[in-house]
Amino acid sequence: MDKIIRCITSDGAVMASAIDSTDIAYIASKIHNTSPVASAALGRLLSAASIMGAQLKSSNATLNIRFEGDGALGAFMAVADSNGNVKGFVTNPDCPTTHYENGKLNVAEAVGAGIISVMKDFGEGEPYIGKIPIVSGEIAEDITNYYATSEQIPTVCALGVLIDKESAQVLLSGGLLIQLLPGADDSTIDRIEANVGKLESVTTMLAKGMTALDMCKKALDGFEVEVLDEFEVKYVCGCSKEKIRSLIAAMPEEEIRAMIEEDGGAQASCRFCNKKYTFSVDELENILNKK
Ligand SMILES: [Zn+2]
Repeated sequence: MDKIIRCITSDGAVMASAIDSTDIAYIASKIHNTSPVASAALGRLLSAASIMGAQLKSSNATLNIRFEGDGALGAFMAVADSNGNVKGFVTNPDCPTTHYENGKLNVAEAVGAGIISVMKDFGEGEPYIGKIPIVSGEIAEDITNYYATSEQIPTVCALGVLIDKESAQVLLSGGLLIQLLPGADDSTIDRIEANVGKLESVTTMLAKGMTALDMCKKALDGFEVEVLDEFEVKYVCGCSKEKIRSLIAAMPEEEIRAMIEEDGGAQASCRFCNKKYTFSVDELENILNKK
């Protein structure tokens, strides 16, 4: 079971959130049948979205991050609720995988250049929408840049998905977000920088058997640390036939009529979980009668 843990230094100056998202990234790769580079990009984004969603305070809030790059991956996105549960999709799941010279997956090339949109919907009032350019395409650096430019929160983000070279299966996935809170003094900043400089990659830490708590403690080494909270997170899609029915009901009447007369029914599949929903001619007639 995947888990997020959040810790704060006892002086309240630094917060660290870590996630072990191995199941989430694995399930996402199975649902979408992703190539290695697509598994890595989607897994990294799901980890980030889960941590960021869990920071939203209202219980019915959602967070939505969309990367729209010009690389082979196409647009991909993740949606998280305020409990850190996530879902996501990628436009081209079979995107070809390329590597850097050191053997690491070249996620940046698959993502390409473009725009990142972050939407925070608090369940009431206007949602917050931030748009920033993709600065790296490796996702973690982009999340760091998002916090620096859109929220003015000095942040270090690390994300990783380890994929087995032979089977192309997701083996491990996780993330770490370290944020300086107002009041962090220079010595705190220096120490955090030194800690970050010594941090191993998230997947190396997970491969050593380190937990999300161990990763937070490593990031906050030298500080007195308190655990703020800890909770289980999952890949969750809340789609239902009812929701798809209301989407169809919102379509123009002539389009629904075309489904009845030309297609003899309708089939829709959820882009987040690939579940298929079929509507018979009778069901479509019913929708039309209620319009
Ligand atoms: Zn679904």
